[in-house]
Amino acid sequence: MLSLSHWNDQTHYCCHECGVEIPKEDFEVNNMIIWRCPTCNGPIDVYASTEERNYSIIRKYASEIKINDLIFIVPRMKSHEVFDVKEIKGMIHVALKEQGVVKLAKDAFVDSVMGRWPTGTTPWTRP
Ligand SMILES: [Zn+2]
Repeated sequence: MLSLSHWNDQTHYCCHECGVEIPKEDFEVNNMIIWRCPTCNGPIDVYASTEERNYSIIRKYASEIKINDLIFIVPRMKSHEVFDVKEIKGMIHVALKEQGVVKLAKDAFVDSVMGRWPTGTTPWTRP
């Protein structure tokens, strides 16, 4: 199963458009996390770490997944490449390398890996 955000407390959130770190409370509206910058409505970048690696992540809707995206699966703490995605009966079927096909609601959020960052740096702050 794809699981949604279970990142630890050291996770950082920022908007690159505005160049600021954003506390999670600021994009939580009525207990719903909207994953949009409260100032410019741009996507929130997530900087998260596992024991092995640091990831920069964009959260997107399952309906926005594209071939070659890297989707992070929390229970496995690994990212998997998308090699096929199609909509069948209102569900998004995503074929992931080494993982098989997962079915998601169109409005389910997934973690899409954009890159990595070196330990000791703070890419969520403007240099
Ligand atoms: Zn912004």
